[in-house]
Amino acid sequence: MPQWGAGVMFEVTATDGGARAGVLHTAHGDVPTPAFMPVGTKATVKSLHPDEVREAGAHILLGNTYHLHFRPGEDVIAELGGLHAFMGWDWPILTDSGGFQVFSLRDTLLAVDDAGVTFRSVYDGDAARFTPELAAEIQAKLGSDIAMCLDVCPPAGVPPEELERAVRLTTTWAARQRESERSPGQLVFGITQGAADRDLRARSVEEITALGFDGYALGGLSVGEPRPEMVDAVEWAAPMLPADRPRYFMGIGDPDGILDVIARGIDMFDCVLPTRLGRTGTALTSHGRLNLRNARFARDQRPLDERCDCQACGRFTRAYIRHLVNQQELLALRLLSLHNLRFLLDVTLEARSAIEHGRLADFILEMRQRMASEA
Ligand SMILES: [Zn+2]
Repeated sequence: MPQWGAGVMFEVTATDGGARAGVLHTAHGDVPTPAFMPVGTKATVKSLHPDEVREAGAHILLGNTYHLHFRPGEDVIAELGGLHAFMGWDWPILTDSGGFQVFSLRDTLLAVDDAGVTFRSVYDGDAARFTPELAAEIQAKLGSDIAMCLDVCPPAGVPPEELERAVRLTTTWAARQRESERSPGQLVFGITQGAADRDLRARSVEEITALGFDGYALGGLSVGEPRPEMVDAVEWAAPMLPADRPRYFMGIGDPDGILDVIARGIDMFDCVLPTRLGRTGTALTSHGRLNLRNARFARDQRPLDERCDCQACGRFTRAYIRHLVNQQELLALRLLSLHNLRFLLDVTLEARSAIEHGRLADFILEMRQRMASEA
């Protein structure tokens, strides 16, 4: 079982500028990094069978503590053998702490104090409370391979005093969660806050890394600030994190954003984008986004992306998928989710290979030129 400070759970195997390729060892297997983590919010990547998610190239999934705590509850999942058995996914799982949902649903927030946060559940409106100890307990019962610390994640543009308080409480809570029990073999990652404020971020990194975790996340970015500000913050914040531990950027998943954070030394990232775009009839392709509702696809016999060999692209035309989208057929959601997932996993895999060959900058340039051009 990995121990605090043992440093054996993560290996950097190649670097290219600030970017890294590596392998993260977990209780349910190895994860090649950089790694895109599809989000299985309610113990499912919406509309997809776990084998399809695996075959698309996913090595690790993200589960949401907030949602699983309220429905069906961590005790039910623990009784049924833990989250892996419950959802039929036998590979690595990272669970978030629930903090992001609590703080992004601002209308439901009731009070934040040194010991935790009180809020109204989105399921029944009842008052509920998360503490660092409960975040640890829920994730231990779920049995995820990687548990995240409960943090205070304010939206972009809050006053400096609110940002400072978020940094202070995030450290206080992390210290308490670190002392809580974890499930066998479970890794625990600390989260740094401070938005794009360099001094506050540096303080948060210093305090959280001093506590000692298996990996570290940049939280509180990609929460509404302008993209250039976010990219700039990753540029100086990622190198502040220990080089021998995995670095996780929370909540990014568009192709441009993935390339931006990989180039700056991020190893892991997650996003609901593949399935969310699927629900709006949108495909991510090597020539940019396609809105399948557009009439120009009505007789288009090409696959979504000629460079892709997923189950959607291998058999179906844009014209057919457009028809499914317009008729709100369930298969449209499945095919678009599957393709979008595959596309983002492929981009990540190609970036990893480019890092290994010392040509990440060229790869990013080629990728961006292609995405800006018409198919
Ligand atoms: Zn495809």
